[in-house]
Amino acid sequence: MHELSVINNILKVVLKHAEDHKVKKVVAVHLQVGELSDLEDQWMQQYFDYLAKDGIAEAACLVIERVPVVMKCSDCGMSHAINIKEDKSSMCPECGSTNNTIVSGREYFIKNLEAI
Ligand SMILES: [Zn+2]
Repeated sequence: MHELSVINNILKVVLKHAEDHKVKKVVAVHLQVGELSDLEDQWMQQYFDYLAKDGIAEAACLVIERVPVVMKCSDCGMSHAINIKEDKSSMCPECGSTNNTIVSGREYFIKNLEAI
């Protein structure tokens, strides 16, 4: 039920924003989700529909954009984005070190709202 609490947080922000801007209806929520996140699009939309029911964000569409994972090399300090599906190695493109740590890729945030 990890998604449920995430969506609950997202919805809170959406509703607060909608209230501040006096919108009548939220039609779409654009989200950026790190590629390493275990949030699944399908579940996110289902939970959103469930939680947003009877509110101004009811039936809003979630537009989910996956953002690449960023690694930072512990040896030379270079940051680089990797394609997690194609790029299995996490070698630093600068110095070839495999001593890399993930800086981002698990986070999510609201990029934009479409409202009327
Ligand atoms: Zn390096």
